[in-house]
Amino acid sequence: GGLSLLGAVPGAPSCPHGPALLFVKISQGQEEGRRFYACSACRDRKDCNFFQWEDEKVSATRLAAREEYNRNHQPSFTHRQNVERYKNFVLLPLSKRRFCQECQQLLLPAEWEKHSSHQFLCDISAAQLRSPSQLLYPLENKKTNAQYLFADRSCQFLLDLIISLGFRRVLSVGTPRLHEMIQSKASQEEDFRVRSLLLDIDFRYSQFYTEDEFCHYNMFNHYFFGGEAAHETCRKFLHQDKDERIIMVTDPPFGGFVEALASSFKKLMAMWKDTEEGHNNQEMPTFWIFPYFFESRILEFFPSFSMMDYQVDYNNHALYKHGKTGRRQSPVRIFTNLSPRMIVLPAEEGYRFCAICQRYVSSDNQHCEICNSCTSKDGRRWKHCVPCKKCVKPSWFHCNKCNCCALENHTCEKTDAGCFVCGKTGHKRSTCPSLSRS
Ligand code: SAH
Ligand code: ZN
Ligand code: ZN
Ligand code: ZN
Ligand code: ZN
Repeated sequence: GGLSLLGAVPGAPSCPHGPALLFVKISQGQEEGRRFYACSACRDRKDCNFFQWEDEKVSATRLAAREEYNRNHQPSFTHRQNVERYKNFVLLPLSKRRFCQECQQLLLPAEWEKHSSHQFLCDISAAQLRSPSQLLYPLENKKTNAQYLFADRSCQFLLDLIISLGFRRVLSVGTPRLHEMIQSKASQEEDFRVRSLLLDIDFRYSQFYTEDEFCHYNMFNHYFFGGEAAHETCRKFLHQDKDERIIMVTDPPFGGFVEALASSFKKLMAMWKDTEEGHNNQEMPTFWIFPYFFESRILEFFPSFSMMDYQVDYNNHALYKHGKTGRRQSPVRIFTNLSPRMIVLPAEEGYRFCAICQRYVSSDNQHCEICNSCTSKDGRRWKHCVPCKKCVKPSWFHCNKCNCCALENHTCEKTDAGCFVCGKTGHKRSTCPSLSRS
């Protein structure tokens, strides 16, 4: 049995997170599964319990109730209101600038009373307002919505890379930390020319950015909560001027469905393409930041992409951040449609250029003479297996029963159904390595 995504379909019902996605549930021994709609953004029923069988008849009363429910489950302030509130907030003297930690909200003096039993921060400085990702709690939903913020080093690397490649505009899709680094420099350094538009489902950011800087967006169904106006903002941003090349950078939660993400990114790319005739058959330059074990899934949807060896590090992730003692290897990589040889990785961190592969690789990634490529995916040194005709992880051994390489203590029986999360065989959803991030 299992669950799989059929995708966004025209006429799908909506939950508070926009149009629901169509799924199919296949029970064991059954030929055809039953199809149903569920929330695109929340994998946890506790966050959004929207559910509807595809063939279910929904009465007019229930439809009306649902619409009302969706309306009531929108944020209490609109983006416009939040922008106005921000304008008033920055006029306040430091001593009157409070941020409610419980409500995750900047407070105006008239609202103090209402939040008097809540924990709050005082003296919110201009520097704090420039770094909302530090002020806000990272969302911690175990399944899809967890926020993992780039470590400074990785964020700075990305920005330097973007600039050195000649980009002047960044469509930041689910990368609030990168967006804020760009916005912060733009507001402080006079000759800093890069601009960013943040698309993210985390509406708390609307307190800090105008409608031209942030769109409330769902990347699993390409839904702009702000409607046509927000769509237009995005379109306008993508309409590049002559010397303002644009790149899309995205770091989605990876408990999510790759195909849903890919379909949204294709739509954003199409928006970019529609803005100008001059793009010919080019694809919008993109960095998709995602774990290396999703490589085959990403390439399935974007054959033009390749995976870089650079290990993206995070601040608030216990497993993937740089330890003081030695380095934990992060599994997160950059996938891009730019030419790999252009993506210069820092020599100080051990990356080197492989002249044969024409790309930068990590220090332990050895060029295999037989495969004729630098084959390591995880940063460790891989070894070539002659019967498998490929390089494998250092911890793997060739098993003659299975006729492939595996961990020494594996059980010699193939699970034929692929994992529900990543599609790979050999493990089930509950033990999928891609979920270990949460
Ligand atoms: N490393 C990035 C943050 C990545 S965490 C940085 O430091 O900037 C994933 C981001 O995707 C979060 O900002 C989260 O709010 C956003 N996100 C999660 N689900 C989303 C959805 N359905 N649509 C749009 N953004 C989403
Ligand atoms: Zn409060
Ligand atoms: Zn090589
Ligand atoms: Zn090899
Ligand atoms: Zn075996």
